[in-house]
Amino acid sequence: MIYGDDMNEILNNIKIIRRRMETACKKVGRDAASVKLLLATKTVPPERVRVAIEAGETLTGENKMQEFALKNPALSDLKYERHFIGHLQTNKIKDIVKYDVHCIQSLDSVELAQKLDKRFQAEGRSIDVMIQVNTSFEQSKSGLEPDNVTSFIKELKNYDTLKLKGFMTIGLFDSDEDAVRQSYVRLREIRDHALSGGLISPNSSELSMGMSHDLEIAIEEGATIVRIGSAIFGTRAI
Ligand SMILES: *Cc1c(COP(=O)(O)O)cnc(C)c1O
Repeated sequence: MIYGDDMNEILNNIKIIRRRMETACKKVGRDAASVKLLLATKTVPPERVRVAIEAGETLTGENKMQEFALKNPALSDLKYERHFIGHLQTNKIKDIVKYDVHCIQSLDSVELAQKLDKRFQAEGRSIDVMIQVNTSFEQSKSGLEPDNVTSFIKELKNYDTLKLKGFMTIGLFDSDEDAVRQSYVRLREIRDHALSGGLISPNSSELSMGMSHDLEIAIEEGATIVRIGSAIFGTRAI
């Protein structure tokens, strides 16, 4: 059950986020339409996700396959795109098709690429992927080391079913704005380097970066997808 106040809060939060996105775009002369809002819906129950989708949002992201299992059936009457943004265990690959996941944003190993491709060869279809890069050099973060991205992109060309859409990173979590910005600059430079070297086409140039607390910095540095959870759905218990 969702009550009116809760619903209004979600709707109001979306307005605030959209305004923040627009203001950030304006500041650096970008078209507001060049940045997509992904709802990071981990731990958010389906009736609250529904409010956002019915208000016009079209893109969600989950960190765990189990959350799709819970939410997809409850939202099956709605049309929206689902991305996977968490650490993907290889034994969960079969669930990508089952839960109609459109894009895996967290591709970060050759082993995972091999197994994904094998699965999608068998399915006779393809899947969108983004390369997750560890731009903050924090040990705890997943993602490829920046130095390994070029060889990884070359390796990916062996896997026909994986359609590279761009790059994803979780920025440094720090109150030092310049340090946070550095991680986003790093992801943009990796993308630009791959583009100018002819390694990727413009179809593979998305940058998924920026969360509730730092979306402005990410947009200023070129984000084309921001992933927002708590600023829309409230702080999480976990
Ligand atoms: C939870 C999560 C987000 C959203 O974080 P908020 O701070 O709640 O906006 C974005 N990206 C990933 C990978 C996440 O796990």
